[in-house]
Amino acid sequence: MKAKIRRCIKCGRYTMKEICLNCGEKTKIAHPAKFSPDDPYLNLKIKAIVKRS
Ligand SMILES: [Zn+2]
Repeated sequence: MKAKIRRCIKCGRYTMKEICLNCGEKTKIAHPAKFSPDDPYLNLKIKAIVKRS
């Protein structure tokens, strides 16, 4: 399953939610180009993001 990483337009925090849990602003889909499939740390980054959400 492919995770959709979203990013808060206000504080820039990454989340999986449509609304930022940090400031309550709407989030938008993070640009796919920012997440390189060749990045060996991608999964760790996503896990860290999800854990904080
Ligand atoms: Zn925010």
